[in-house]
Amino acid sequence: MAETCPRPHAFMIALPYQGHITPFVNLALKLASKGIIVTFVHLEFIHHTSSQSQQSSSNLFSEARECGLDIRYTTIDDGFPLEFDRVLHSDKYWESMLRDFPGRVEEFVVKTIQSDDPCLAPFLIADTFYTWPAAISKKLNLLNVSFWTEPALVFSLAYHMNLLKENGHFPCKDHVEEEINYLPGVEEISTKDLMSYLKAADPATTVDEVVPKAFEEVKKADFILHNTVQELESETLSALNKYQPNYAVGPINFSKTLATDTVSKSLRSELDCANWLDSKSPGSVLYVSFGSLVQTSKQVIEEIAHGLLLSEVNFIWVVRADAVSSGDTDVLPAGYVDEIKDKGLIVPWCTQMMVLSHPAVGGFLTHCGWNSVLETIWCGTPMICYPITYDQPTNRKLVVDGWKIGINLCDETSVERKEVAEKIKSFMSGAASESLREEANKVNAVLQNALERDGSSERNFDQFVKDLKAKLIAGNE
Ligand code: UDP
Repeated sequence: MAETCPRPHAFMIALPYQGHITPFVNLALKLASKGIIVTFVHLEFIHHTSSQSQQSSSNLFSEARECGLDIRYTTIDDGFPLEFDRVLHSDKYWESMLRDFPGRVEEFVVKTIQSDDPCLAPFLIADTFYTWPAAISKKLNLLNVSFWTEPALVFSLAYHMNLLKENGHFPCKDHVEEEINYLPGVEEISTKDLMSYLKAADPATTVDEVVPKAFEEVKKADFILHNTVQELESETLSALNKYQPNYAVGPINFSKTLATDTVSKSLRSELDCANWLDSKSPGSVLYVSFGSLVQTSKQVIEEIAHGLLLSEVNFIWVVRADAVSSGDTDVLPAGYVDEIKDKGLIVPWCTQMMVLSHPAVGGFLTHCGWNSVLETIWCGTPMICYPITYDQPTNRKLVVDGWKIGINLCDETSVERKEVAEKIKSFMSGAASESLREEANKVNAVLQNALERDGSSERNFDQFVKDLKAKLIAGNE
């Protein structure tokens, strides 16, 4: 079959964090399955980390290419040596990402376009948190697609930062809880549920500075893709659609038509928990993880550790060596691993989807990272929420108050072992657990339906591709 001309060619650049990389890789697969050529660009250090964890240096998308998907994979230098600790020195890192990285991206895109087949119509897909896509797209006359990997509610709050400012809610007043009910598409939200970067009085870190700039820039995007489901956030999305074309195409990490597991996205080596899980009875295990990035205090870890033991529930706990902010890699209380015996399994990292979908798992104690939330819903599992920072408090609101598929770990801000144990016990087997499970099944059905051939996410994706092609053609005439 003759290829149509111009043929869309996406340049995709993800943010260098696990929670952003996974949806980006899956979006690349999805785009390619619709006949769009993709050049997927990883930062060099991410390529290196990921190759080391997989113990393979093969091309990330080689299997997908063998299946006929045209995904070209390459890397770009961020200007730092591989061993530089980008999390520990995140201020220095992001200063440079703001200042120097856009020039590198531009140079790379220009070079690639120059050597491209003239029949290809290049466009950009970058993470919404990047501050440079609008300027580069304008300069190079490219369409600019922004990919938002978190819920539309979080997007909308950041998008309406100026409105929050006018009403004295950005930054919010310390220790004063107020309800916000004037944002388009957001019925009501308490200031306590806002993202951490909206609560900071001054930009405390460069990252806090990045968000306002990124959300000014996203207003110039041609299209915005959201890793959420229309039915779950319909009012928020409809309100956003009044400004720009927004498409809910999530959960992008799953597909009913495409093999997304041909590409490994993990930046860490995964420990196999299958044997241990096989030895436990259905629904008896609590899975515990606080994601790939955030840190908490040693004291919180200690209270959770004792709370888990006191609850007498089986558990798998992902304890990363960098889980506490003090830099102490000896994260757990002394002798803890011996004490838990076979009741618990502590792992540095696992294949989360494999664990969540195992019949032995009955719940997830989570920090409410958005990928974790979607993955848990996908498995129809209820959650105990312990949000720490960034978007997690806002995601918690959706899970607990909005969809009623989770409970809070603590009623106060402090974490206390007895309360942790009681919450876990009643969550896993108490009367309330029944209704949580019922609601989890309902929300699961919404997610599953969205990915059916005629489901909202599939339809929205096709509409996006149609609108994109029309705009590319119009731009070429
Ligand atoms: N994850 C994993 N194994 C682990 C812990 C986490 O594969 O042991 C994955 C998880 O499935 C999710 C991602 O890491 O896709 C974490 O993303 P999320 O948005 O939940 O949180 P973040 O790490 O961005 O805070």
